[in-house]
Amino acid sequence: MSKRNQGITRRKFLKLTSSSVALLPVALIATDRATAQTKAKKEAVQYQDTPKNGQKCVDCVLFEPPEACKVVEGKIAPEGWCSLFAPKPS
Ligand code: SF4
Repeated sequence: MSKRNQGITRRKFLKLTSSSVALLPVALIATDRATAQTKAKKEAVQYQDTPKNGQKCVDCVLFEPPEACKVVEGKIAPEGWCSLFAPKPS
């Protein structure tokens, strides 16, 4: 391999490496925002602080004790309910 070819290869490598590193913070911010946007608003899923037809958050696979939900934003009551209710397997 000639010195000229080695120079081109190194330049391409440095160019690719520097552009990838430059994009890393953008990718991290985009991922963080996508994660933050994945939770639904309570109004959108008819959330209520009381059970419905015997169904309640504490019995839902999406509930995260003590007062959170994997898919609905905000404080979630263990005795609450929403239209995304998914019962834990018995
Ligand atoms: S019923 Fe709705 S708010 Fe309650 S834990 Fe399940 S998905 Fe979350």
